[in-house]
Amino acid sequence: MSEIKILHKIQDLRDAISLYRKAGKTIGLVPTMGNLHAGHISLTKSIREHADIVCATLFVNPKQFGKGEDFGSYPRTLEHDAKMLQDAGVELLFAPNVDEMYPSGFSTTVSVKGISNGLCGVDRPVHFDGVCTVVTKLLLQAMPDVAIFGEKDYQQLMVIKRFVRDLDIPVEIIGGAILREEDGLAMSSRNNYLSLEERAVAPMLQRTLQQIVVQLRSGQDYQKVIKNGKDALLEAGFDQIDYLEICDEADLSYIYAPIEGPQRVFVAAHLGKARLIDNIAV
Ligand code: AMP
Repeated sequence: MSEIKILHKIQDLRDAISLYRKAGKTIGLVPTMGNLHAGHISLTKSIREHADIVCATLFVNPKQFGKGEDFGSYPRTLEHDAKMLQDAGVELLFAPNVDEMYPSGFSTTVSVKGISNGLCGVDRPVHFDGVCTVVTKLLLQAMPDVAIFGEKDYQQLMVIKRFVRDLDIPVEIIGGAILREEDGLAMSSRNNYLSLEERAVAPMLQRTLQQIVVQLRSGQDYQKVIKNGKDALLEAGFDQIDYLEICDEADLSYIYAPIEGPQRVFVAAHLGKARLIDNIAV
């Protein structure tokens, strides 16, 4: 296995990718904020089925953090991340610094209306603008054939699919399944913020979603099911629930009674210093 190439400059990334292009290779992109875990690595494996060369990116994007969020304390572990990617056979790692991504005078925002307003958009009003702006830049820098985003951040995946379609960016966006710990907790860099006691409570998030699905399938009242779910989370020890909603899977509109077509349940809740999110198909 050849050594992973770590690149910090946009031009170096373009040069490396253009060499692969000249050799007839297709390129898959895996954007991340680093502090990698098995969930990220699963994305690098899934995209390998769609591309010859895998390029991961690592950038803690200041524009997608709101005031009072954890931008400053977000774990930065480049060496550990590079080793994990190398072991997974990833060819390229692009890890620019903030000045390379946002040079002085940077003044453009990519913003998606509608689908980014609900769920995480309510409590994190700048978040999706930051995500869309940085992902647009990464796609234009690498010009991959395909890029993958985890279903753990389902709303993010849908928002990205929307602007890629709206702006005619020539890339295929695919989703990657949520990788979980044995007890059902979705893997996340933010799980590191949990104390031992909080870590024992955290799997209740997924368990509650599973119970909600069972109740919905058995025909129970939507609003009652949601109220019971919120009560269960607070009783388990969650400090605050940002949202627990049943949505139309296609446009993420909130639904309060059965509809035709696929539905998904979404949750975001605070536990100690961590804000945890999860979702499940009904
Ligand atoms: P992040 O570094 O948290 O921005 O995540 C980078 C990418 O990995 C995003 O597309 C996430 O949706 C995805 N991801 C994060 N956690 C998981 C997980 N547990 N399983 C699968 N994908 C994940």
